Amino acid sequence: MSETAPSPEIAVIGAGYAGMACAQRLAEAGRTVKLFDKGRGPGGRSSTRRGEAGRFDHGAPFFAMSDPDFTAVVDLWRGHGVAAPWEGRFIAVDGSGTPEQPSLPAVMVGMPGMNGILKWLGEGLDIAFGVRVKRIVREGDAYRLVAEDGADLGTYGQVVIAVPSVQAVPLLEQAGAEAMARAAETVEVQPCWTVMAAFADAPPVAFDAAEVTSGPLSMALHQESKPGRDPAEPGMSTWVLHASDAWTRAHLEDDKEDVVAPLLDAFMGIGGPIDEPVFATAHRWRYAKVTGPAGVSHLWDGSLGVGACGDWLPDHDPQHGIEAAWRSGSALADAILEA
Ligand SMILES: Cc1cc2nc3c(=O)[nH]c(=O)nc-3n(C[C@H](O)[C@H](O)[C@H](O)COP(=O)(O)OP(=O)(O)OC[C@H]3O[C@@H](n4cnc5c(N)ncnc54)[C@H](O)[C@@H]3O)c2cc1C
Repeated sequence: MSETAPSPEIAVIGAGYAGMACAQRLAEAGRTVKLFDKGRGPGGRSSTRRGEAGRFDHGAPFFAMSDPDFTAVVDLWRGHGVAAPWEGRFIAVDGSGTPEQPSLPAVMVGMPGMNGILKWLGEGLDIAFGVRVKRIVREGDAYRLVAEDGADLGTYGQVVIAVPSVQAVPLLEQAGAEAMARAAETVEVQPCWTVMAAFADAPPVAFDAAEVTSGPLSMALHQESKPGRDPAEPGMSTWVLHASDAWTRAHLEDDKEDVVAPLLDAFMGIGGPIDEPVFATAHRWRYAKVTGPAGVSHLWDGSLGVGACGDWLPDHDPQHGIEAAWRSGSALADAILEA
């Protein structure tokens, strides 16, 4: 007679900050948890892309803290060397490079990339990467998860959905959590085009991070000025540029090849003449930042055994998306444990 290993009690779909915070707290309390993420590695919207030209934090470039509990968690990450303050030259400029009042707060980054924290957190957890959960099927009191390729991912008594609001809607509906799906639908999100560029010689600019208040750009961020980042080759200078909200919306469906040149031009607009990059590509984030959250810390239906967490739930400032995701995942874990 063949024996199959029992499925973990709880499935967590999404291994970003929210899913990871929830899974970690549940695992610490002795629950068996299985995480699934469609990405090739940890990061979600706080990913780091590595290539021949260098390492680019092409999602969230940094994070800030306001909540004392989250600050204590970040202190722990700092103690383990996976987070550090970024003490760069931060300025605010308009689209022509004219300085304005600096507005970036003191910020933290993951080490050696923004995904370093999640990589470290994931070490003690059971995570299947490269698996997109396509369907949740109710079977009695449990849920069977099915992957995009039809693979059976097992049966779980409780399911946590920790993905961006738009992607959460169909999963919540399949799990029978109609009210949660409707809450997710009300959330407003802002997309963002980002450009990753590598220059053989450092652009002659007087800043490491510029917040741009007008024109096509919203941010220009020098990667090697962050702690723990080495250039791909000595002297190589890598940058991530964020398009402004309005520019991204106007060009949302453009091909990525068409996005690079106008955003590099805008970089020259604030930085002056810059050599052609040796590498440049773009990435479209459809659900980059939450501009209208649901306004609750998390969602949990104990009778269904279904919950949701993520940056789309708690109210927060846009530079606190990571903090909001972490708080939301932790709050959901507490609710599950109390139940
Ligand atoms: C360009 C940009 C700039 C930003 N700037 C900042 C900033 O300055 N400061 C800040 O704090 N935050 C910033 N953010 C926001 C921050 O990245 C997010 O708030 C935070 O990462 C959200 O974490 P999360 O766990 O809620 O979601 P995510 O990080 O999106 O994690 C969700 C995970 O679910 C996975 N997933 C989705 N669907 C499925 C499925 N069906 N099956 C399996 N896996 C699935 C995804 O692969 C992903 O890994 C920025 C984001 C972007 C993109």
